[in-house]
Amino acid sequence: MNNDNCVFCRIANGEIPAHFVYNDDDVMAILDINPVAKGHMLVIPKYHAKYYHELPEKYAKKIATTLLLVTKALEAENYNILQNNGKLAGQEVPHVHFHVIPKPSKDEGLGIRFPSKQETSEALTELAKEIKEKIDKLL
Ligand code: AMP
Ligand code: ZN
Repeated sequence: MNNDNCVFCRIANGEIPAHFVYNDDDVMAILDINPVAKGHMLVIPKYHAKYYHELPEKYAKKIATTLLLVTKALEAENYNILQNNGKLAGQEVPHVHFHVIPKPSKDEGLGIRFPSKQETSEALTELAKEIKEKIDKLL
């Protein structure tokens, strides 16, 4: 792992202890040290990138299968999967990680606000076209 100043790279290297629930060559899942609710876990690729979109596809795929594993093991009726990108979006540790956060009651777990806005059908059509063109270039 390639960043000596990164807490998750250091955990992956065995330099800092953590409570592992899953570990392989490409990904690890650990308990969050300051859980929002009991069972709060982090799924972390063993690749130092700040943003999700910077990950090689191999790691994105491994994260997906690991999220399936840990959420099955969690056996929670209600839970959130959260992944923050960038400081403004709430990212504190600049190494990609997915939070798996049980929501055992209204007051425990994540409090989510969805400040939705109205948008015209024409504006959505135009935006979908723009994004689709960019996706087509990436394929
Ligand atoms: P974020 O705000 O999405 O960057 O979340 C960072 C998360 O990493 C927080 O929930 C922290 O509690 C958690 N965290 C930071 N250091 C450690 C650590 N050494 N072991 C486990 N979790 C950690
Ligand atoms: Zn790192």
